[in-house]
Amino acid sequence: MKDFIQPHLLKIQPYQPGKPIGEVERELGLSGVLKLASNENLAGPSPRAVEAMKKFAAEANFYPDGGCWHLRSAVAAEFGVPFDSVAVGNGTDEIIRLLCQIFLAPGLNAVAGNPSFVMYRISTIACGGSPVEAPNTDNGFTIDLDAMLDKVDADTRLFFICNPNNPTGTIVKRQQVEKILEKLPPHVLAVFDEAYFEYADDPDYPNGLDYFAPGGRVAVLRTFSKIHGLAGLRVGYGFLPDAVADAFHRVRNPFNVNQAAQEAAIAALGDVAHVARTREFNRAGRDFLYAELKKMGLDYVPTQANFILVRVAADAEDVFKRLLAKGVIVRPGKFLGFPEHIRVTIPDVDACGRFIAALKEVLNERG
Ligand SMILES: *Cc1c(COP(=O)(O)O)cnc(C)c1O
Repeated sequence: MKDFIQPHLLKIQPYQPGKPIGEVERELGLSGVLKLASNENLAGPSPRAVEAMKKFAAEANFYPDGGCWHLRSAVAAEFGVPFDSVAVGNGTDEIIRLLCQIFLAPGLNAVAGNPSFVMYRISTIACGGSPVEAPNTDNGFTIDLDAMLDKVDADTRLFFICNPNNPTGTIVKRQQVEKILEKLPPHVLAVFDEAYFEYADDPDYPNGLDYFAPGGRVAVLRTFSKIHGLAGLRVGYGFLPDAVADAFHRVRNPFNVNQAAQEAAIAALGDVAHVARTREFNRAGRDFLYAELKKMGLDYVPTQANFILVRVAADAEDVFKRLLAKGVIVRPGKFLGFPEHIRVTIPDVDACGRFIAALKEVLNERG
């Protein structure tokens, strides 16, 4: 059947997820593996979310609320936006995919930075559009909004601003964002992907919602996968202009977000203490890693997220494999656009210590 597959789909490089703990434990005969590969919340899910899921378990025979009424109401109230502006997806990944489906077709394109979140490229191609990527500035670490704007043409429909950027953890600042939004032509939707919004603490970090209006040309995406610790449930949310939200509800699957995820997300949104705890935990881990990496003479990219990009050596793939053998899963930079780096999720200080000890051993082995 290969000859009949839509040829543009074969241009997609399959997404390389972080290795699951179970797989590594099975393959290497290890236990107690530490996964620092997928920017998950290593403080765990909100305990309130866990309770909410349990309560729901006995009702799993029913279809979910396809309109996500309670969750969307909770998000609307939390952020002070109209109910109709709130969209929920099976992970923010699904919202990205649907935006591409809504706006793209052969001949049309979506602009993003590079390196940036690879799902923009995958979803753009999957929907028949062309990914147009502007190289980042600052050794590839920071999104270059001016370079991205230069790539915008009459066929551009989406402009992805990953802020903080994955895989680098850097941000674009308020002033730069405002300058670009003024210049972005009216046929382009600016999409702020703020999956790590709650982690950013730079005073110049812009809140995409400040630029959102129901009649406007800005969309803002957030997720329950990162600070809320619900990555396994697949639930993301966003704020969409009315016209986009209307199209969103036409094309999405009728039950795109399962009920356990909806219940857990509502509970997590209200668990302010868990969010605060996670933020603190991340800051402590980050400062610990900064200090240890400095002592080791390793370069890293200062981060505004819950992960850190570390330059290990010319062969980061080898470092990744050797760390794996010691039961620490990180993300090799090769598929992220940084072949000399590893991307490491920031755990609690104890686990940071375990990672640093393993990294020291690996670098010693390599000589
Ligand atoms: C993790 C992440 C997402 C969304 O993840 P979901 O689990 O699909 O909600 C979106 N954008 C970026 C940049 C991310 O890192």
